[in-house]
Amino acid sequence: MSSPLVVMKFGGSSVANADRIRRVARRIARERANGSRLVVVVSAMGDTTDELLALAAAITDDPDPRELDVLLATGEHQSATLMSMALQSLGTPAISLTGPQAGITTDGTYGKARIAGIDPRRVDAELAQGKVVIVAGFQGRSVKPVEHLDDAPGASDAHASEITTLGRGGSDTTAVALAAQLKADRCQIFTDVKGIYTADPRLVPDARQLPVIGYEEMMELAHQGAQVMNVRAVELGWVNDVVIEVLSSFEDAPGTEIREDPLVEQRNKVRGIAHDRNVAKVTLVAVPDQPGVARRVFDPLASSGITIDMIVQNVGHGGATDLSFTIPRVELAKAKRILEPLVRELGARELTTDSSVAKVSIVGAGIQNAPGYAARMFGTLADNEINIEMISTSEIRITTIIAEDRVEDAVRALHAQFALEVPEAAETAAG
Ligand code: ADP
Ligand code: ASP
Ligand code: MG
Repeated sequence: MSSPLVVMKFGGSSVANADRIRRVARRIARERANGSRLVVVVSAMGDTTDELLALAAAITDDPDPRELDVLLATGEHQSATLMSMALQSLGTPAISLTGPQAGITTDGTYGKARIAGIDPRRVDAELAQGKVVIVAGFQGRSVKPVEHLDDAPGASDAHASEITTLGRGGSDTTAVALAAQLKADRCQIFTDVKGIYTADPRLVPDARQLPVIGYEEMMELAHQGAQVMNVRAVELGWVNDVVIEVLSSFEDAPGTEIREDPLVEQRNKVRGIAHDRNVAKVTLVAVPDQPGVARRVFDPLASSGITIDMIVQNVGHGGATDLSFTIPRVELAKAKRILEPLVRELGARELTTDSSVAKVSIVGAGIQNAPGYAARMFGTLADNEINIEMISTSEIRITTIIAEDRVEDAVRALHAQFALEVPEAAETAAG
């Protein structure tokens, strides 16, 4: 029987400088000495990705998405090569591979590409030679036909390979996708907290670490802003039945397992609270209340890749209505460029934007079983004089938009209201 295969992923703070890279390398070398075959996925060092984005923004406010992806991918190239050198200097054979070298192919959407497939042959070959394989996270290769100036016979078969990135937090996705493709025995995500908590432990001091969380609840939390796991990574884990362990890279402590949750039916509490500051609210004031207006607003936003989150359209008065929606704050400048001319064309009164809002959500499978969660949530915010600007719900989530400077108060008050520091009856009964 071959030795167990483990995929280990280390996030930006775990590899933020040379000392930390050497420390992580020692941990990997120990694991290797225990006999496991290892595929290690790394993020860019510390805030490298933000720094590269800032550099691009200093050059232009509308960078070419293709060039931006090639630039961003270099962050993970740095950390992967340095990790490989650190392992080699400990006497552990290792090799670094870029995403494309590791056989990861994606669709052609720069900035948020989805993994289309993984050809595992190179990784398998390196593993077979006893090497630890370090894979640069957050990137892949898309293939598209080369555009030709002429129609020379045969030329249309030529293909161009392009570097793509998977969206923020995408190294998690690289790790889970590799674990699924390679049928790894374990998939471990090492980060700067001990696991998944009932709320961001940096905001809520008495947030409780969860031993287990189901895929669906974790996906909602991630989607609503808990950046500890990338949404797409959790989705891939769910679809491929990969148990994802989230654990600290700084201490040896039990982590959290993201897996099918056997107790989900018995849960009757809120499971966690997520917040997201990467939100901006856009309002078209007094747009004509006519068929086709929403399409004219949302079509061009969609074509330029801007994701719309919540939408609220007020009841029309005198033939006009206000249309508000939220988008990622980082896309506000782009959205304004698209919408400003449209406001004039549509005959709306004005376009207003607010980038000082944030999203706060309560999440839990229990929400669908019992009424009253919405009332308790809104009541708690009211008691704290926090104004709710927008609301949306799903079966297992209630989300509000509030002022950004009240996020901390809101999350703490809701954490206390739903007594999240106390384990659920179902958990304690299970031992
Ligand atoms: P990495 O660089 O390892 O990918 P991230 O910064 O992406 O790490 O994610 C880890 C951070 O996620 C933590 O430092 C924590 O502040 C934040 N976080 C938000 N919500 C949660 C939560 N529910 N549980 C744990 N961490 C959370
Ligand atoms: N370096 C990328 C980011 O900062 C990917 C990752 O860390 O997962 O989003
Ligand atoms: Mg991350």
